[in-house]
Amino acid sequence: MTVDYLVKRDGNARCQIRSEYCIMGENEFKEPIHATIDHKDGDKLNHRLKNLRLACQPCNSHWQKFQWKRKQAATYSHLRKKERKVGVLSETQKEKSSSEIKINIDNYPIFCRWLKDSIEVSHKISVKEAISAGAKYMRKKTGHGSPQSARNYLDMETSSEGSYDIIEGYVLKREMKQAKAQIVEAIKP
Ligand SMILES: [Zn+2]
Repeated sequence: MTVDYLVKRDGNARCQIRSEYCIMGENEFKEPIHATIDHKDGDKLNHRLKNLRLACQPCNSHWQKFQWKRKQAATYSHLRKKERKVGVLSETQKEKSSSEIKINIDNYPIFCRWLKDSIEVSHKISVKEAISAGAKYMRKKTGHGSPQSARNYLDMETSSEGSYDIIEGYVLKREMKQAKAQIVEAIKP
């Protein structure tokens, strides 16, 4: 079991985060069952062993929130970089681009949730469907959403930092590939 592996790997059964919220401090978990498994990069689908560590519940949930904020911040800075590339913007363009950022802030998590739910139901979804139905769904929820923005979000979600892969025109959870990698890593001597 993964908990046993992590205890062996790290040489102790302590919370590995030990944030200011840590209830464990330097103490070890009395029962491994009290430990939670934290995904270091915040991606719950990245089950690679080097991405996993033991953590107490308060540290883990605090860390998850922190990771989510970091992911959002990365998205905004990506958008701002894109803006800067365009060069000096006119006032109208500035207004337009800040409203674009606001739309992205609203739409990106909506798209991600829609994608996750759609793939959970049917296990896969075609790229074409992800773009057109995703855009339509965002439009329904926020009044904004173009196929181009859906494509941008899909690009992010299928990048090396994302949770999905595109295989033969279909968007699939990356989990399958990682589960395999995890098994391979786990049976290594
Ligand atoms: Zn802790």
